[in-house]
Amino acid sequence: MKKVIIVGAGPAGLSAGYLLEKNNTDCILFESEHQVGGISKTIQYKGYFFDLGGHRFFTKFDEVNKLWEEILDKDFRNTPRLSRIFYKNRFFNYPLTPVNALFGVGIIDTFIILGSYIKSKVLPCKSEENFEQWVSNRFGRKLYSIFFKTYTEKVWGIPCSEIGSEWAAQRIKGLSLKTAIINAFVKPRNSNIKTLIDEFKYPVLGPGMMYNEMKNRIEAMGGRVHTDCRVTRVYHDNRSIKSVEYIDKNGIHHTGEGSDFVSSMPVTELIKALSPSADEAVLAAASKLKYRSLITIDIIVNKQNLFPDNWIYIHSPEVRLGRIQNFKNWSSRMVPDARKSSLGLEYFCNENDEIWNMPDAELFRIAAAEIERIKICRASDIEDFTIIRVPKAYPVYSTGYKENVDIIKSYLKGFDNLQLIGRYGLFKYNNMDHSIITGLQAAKNIIYGSCIHDTWEINTDEEYQEEKQEEADEASFARLKEGNSGI
Ligand SMILES: Cc1cc2nc3c(=O)[nH]c(=O)nc-3n(C[C@H](O)[C@H](O)[C@H](O)COP(=O)(O)OP(=O)(O)OC[C@H]3O[C@@H](n4cnc5c(N)ncnc54)[C@H](O)[C@@H]3O)c2cc1C
Repeated sequence: MKKVIIVGAGPAGLSAGYLLEKNNTDCILFESEHQVGGISKTIQYKGYFFDLGGHRFFTKFDEVNKLWEEILDKDFRNTPRLSRIFYKNRFFNYPLTPVNALFGVGIIDTFIILGSYIKSKVLPCKSEENFEQWVSNRFGRKLYSIFFKTYTEKVWGIPCSEIGSEWAAQRIKGLSLKTAIINAFVKPRNSNIKTLIDEFKYPVLGPGMMYNEMKNRIEAMGGRVHTDCRVTRVYHDNRSIKSVEYIDKNGIHHTGEGSDFVSSMPVTELIKALSPSADEAVLAAASKLKYRSLITIDIIVNKQNLFPDNWIYIHSPEVRLGRIQNFKNWSSRMVPDARKSSLGLEYFCNENDEIWNMPDAELFRIAAAEIERIKICRASDIEDFTIIRVPKAYPVYSTGYKENVDIIKSYLKGFDNLQLIGRYGLFKYNNMDHSIITGLQAAKNIIYGSCIHDTWEINTDEEYQEEKQEEADEASFARLKEGNSGI
């Protein structure tokens, strides 16, 4: 009899558990938080629903779409999309439109953009190791500095010259300024991509609704989802994983034994939890992998209509604020009182840096002043707030990260009953759908009793939101921003 231990009840772990239980395979999920959903959960505060950053549902995997539809059915709805960029006290349409962009940056900057684009074609940087070189070579330095540099550096907290080009290649692949300009004038051809730009799927009460329901269904089929249980040790005999040690909310230590192990906990923590300990080289590689964190300052505003966007990217360097979500524009049911609005103000940071450690009252004071400064609302219109700190919101693709991931990967592949899944399990900057696919693949390997899928091989680089070159045309700037936003 198989008994599968799954670490983490985010989208990846829950999807694995759901498929296993549907196929009569016993599983237990251990989740360190009180609520399931991982970084795709939805927080409730005084009847308002807040995502940890807005979560659009989109995928090219039919299997994932079917799963989402199966779980939420009519509560999973098409939502119109509007998002803009705020820069130099102006809003830019996003995707960019020529007239808006021209009036936005001004005629002089437009000529500089074109001049620097031509220069990048005639005299490109010879090396393309980092984000700055990669983007400047494709779009010119001026466009890079307006629409990539400030926001990307807010998201990652390091200069673009220290961000590996792999990340740019993954997220903004196959695009060029030429296609962006052409397609700003030419009507979009591919309805598939247009759909992605104009609307997306979203549960009426946010992504948490999807993952709470998945948990309910796993439990209804006999699976166990233990929340408030953090896995702290993973015991093995160098060939197989034998058991995990977990600590419950009362601080009591327990042991969970299983035949198969699926982990979506951050791979760096898994390496540290192994007993006996991993080789020095593997521990060293894990210690070099870094994450970026996020603080969301969620505010309730005594105003019915603030702006029509689902979210706004704040490129302006004069504020630290990175992005604003307007939740009633995601789903009206996120806001219990239609006369009010709720916003999620996103600040990117590092765990334990100055902003992370700032007292809540101080953080709120800064956020209220910044939101007033960019004229979204007056600080005095804010009625209430709650603050959520999200550690490890993004795996950082800093230069050289891949070699470290490869060291870890080849070591962990030595265990015959361990599969890694999800964004942090695989240290891949992916979205919900890729996390879910890895969870489903791990489950299938267990159900069929053979390793037909290698979860490490899920290719976020090729089949993600980025399209193949011939499909990319009309979505050029949209894709650009997807990459830029770090969402
Ligand atoms: C700001 C932001 C916006 C985003 N927007 C989108 C979007 O629009 N669309 C989209 O598709 N994706 C989006 N994403 C990405 C999406 O949130 C992730 O891809 C997805 O949540 C990853 O799922 P996962 O299960 O792999 O990991 P997680 O969601 O991180 O889940 C892992 C779970 O494991 C638990 N865990 C960790 N360690 C332990 C341990 N030791 N013991 C027990 N449990 C443990 C964690 O508590 C967590 O619940 C966004 C992410 C961010 C940060």
